[in-house]
Amino acid sequence: MIRSHGAGAVTEADIGSEVVVAGWVQRRRDHGGVAFFDVRDATGLVQVVADPAEHPTVADLKMEYCVRVRGEVRSRPAGTENPDLPTGKIEIGVVELDVLAPAKTLPFMIDDRTDVDEAVRLRHRYLDLRRPRMAANLRARSRVTAVIRRTLDDMGFLEVETPTLINSTPEGARDMLVPSRLRPGEFYALPQSPQLFKQLLMIAGVERYFQIARCYRDEDFRSDRQLEFTQLDLEGSFWERDDVLETIEVVLAAVTREIRGVDVPLPFPRLTWHEAMDRYGSDKPDMRFDMEIVDLSDLFPKSEFGVFKNALEAGGTVRGINGGPQEWSRARADAMTERAKELGARGLVWMVSQDDGSLRSPVAKFLDEAEIEGIKSRMEVSPGDVLLIAADRWRTTVGVLGGLRLDLGRPNTHDDLAYLWVVDFPLFEEDEEGAITFSHHPFTSPTSIDEMANDPANAISNAYDAVLNGVELGSGSIRIHDPKVQRQVFEILGIDGRTAERRFGWFLEALEYGTPPHGGFAFGVDRLVMVLQNETSIREVIPFPKTQTGLDPMTGAPTWVDEDQLAELGVELSRESKMRRDDPDEDGSEESG
Ligand code: ASP
Repeated sequence: MIRSHGAGAVTEADIGSEVVVAGWVQRRRDHGGVAFFDVRDATGLVQVVADPAEHPTVADLKMEYCVRVRGEVRSRPAGTENPDLPTGKIEIGVVELDVLAPAKTLPFMIDDRTDVDEAVRLRHRYLDLRRPRMAANLRARSRVTAVIRRTLDDMGFLEVETPTLINSTPEGARDMLVPSRLRPGEFYALPQSPQLFKQLLMIAGVERYFQIARCYRDEDFRSDRQLEFTQLDLEGSFWERDDVLETIEVVLAAVTREIRGVDVPLPFPRLTWHEAMDRYGSDKPDMRFDMEIVDLSDLFPKSEFGVFKNALEAGGTVRGINGGPQEWSRARADAMTERAKELGARGLVWMVSQDDGSLRSPVAKFLDEAEIEGIKSRMEVSPGDVLLIAADRWRTTVGVLGGLRLDLGRPNTHDDLAYLWVVDFPLFEEDEEGAITFSHHPFTSPTSIDEMANDPANAISNAYDAVLNGVELGSGSIRIHDPKVQRQVFEILGIDGRTAERRFGWFLEALEYGTPPHGGFAFGVDRLVMVLQNETSIREVIPFPKTQTGLDPMTGAPTWVDEDQLAELGVELSRESKMRRDDPDEDGSEESG
């Protein structure tokens, strides 16, 4: 046996007996001819004391050496106890000290105080994961998946694995492709989600399915996106929307209790998509603060102010938010206006309410008394408040104000938790080229088939999202279980019958065999753990993430492969790729941030 006790598990009850601990050397210090160091392992840490004259090895010990200590447990001398540490009342006096493995000089300190460049942390992720905060994130993640499994198992769900080398499952991202060696020139797609397989499991009679599934989406990185990520994926038969929402609430409440020790009030509040956009300018509103968007359009029936007048005449709207008391300067006003433009506005009207009740604003002179009074009462203005007003099409106006609302009001930690359902999403939306596309995925059922056929732009779907603190945790929907309707949706999406047969014929056929009504949901485990652990990037809760540019600075992935390997797969590199490969100095993608 290498050790008798975990370092953090040695207690006062062991005083007087001999123990053997093993772990890493942390925080070494020398006092009056005696050496002190902590030994840390996964259970915690314990202080060790050695006389270098008796144990010369002590002089060699450096940070993060892996050591084994046999010694006697004793009380720390009075006045040297550490009340913050579970083992703070004891120490181990060395009898025998072995170095199990030395460590090179560290690229960074193994503590949470040092601020280290992320690329360096990722390059030595195995050291980064030794830091207390990262170790805590790993543990939290494991507890989250354990609670999910326990909760769903208790509710009669079956955990089923689905394949990762599959045919495309459209979720709105690019597929990650894997070439087939056995069928050169052909490709598997990695799942953007297990969507179609979980629907097949419903056809197969499973009724209650879940999986903690790895999904792959080739899309641009943001702080809450990675090429591969983990979802709790779930599906049920003979279910309506509320069955799904209630099940997910039970799971999220159990996870929250486990990690935060609090009971979330159930059911979660619900907003329709339209309400969410109208009041908060976002389909994932952060409900931890108010600052609701206020409709001011009716205050300006015959305004002299061109910006409002033109917007209203064009069928648009005038809306604003009361940002509350803010430090306001010319520079801040300019920055906010710039930000509004980034968000799609043509301009931004700002007003600061003065102690004498007037509104200071570059546009005040264009507004009459009644309009000013109207704004003040509608926006419940107090002295010092800053008002931001936009006038444009509804969608643009609420989007701009929603973005500014977050800039002004969003808390910068996740101490409070605000869960929310957003329901009744539009069935379709326009893509960048103005073509109609699905807003959830093409297997989502409409609330009305007639509406879908006659007015697709305004059709509502049976899709819903879970939101936590303004972060979209996940989405789901009641599915189409009628193959005729499924074909109709493909058609509206511009997928002609032949293409639909070629890509999804196998699935359309499966739907023909007595498919039960069904629906489900998936939420991002990474994002959930991120919020619960009060982190701002999912990379902090993913053991081995990629950088923003899709690289793994540790293993070097993605890498070039041998020509032979490519030939076997029937794949040939383009001339540009070969040039990049043969002249890596020219390769602009070498950076690893
Ligand atoms: N497949 C969906 C997704 O990954 C979730 C669902 O509809 O159940 O977002």
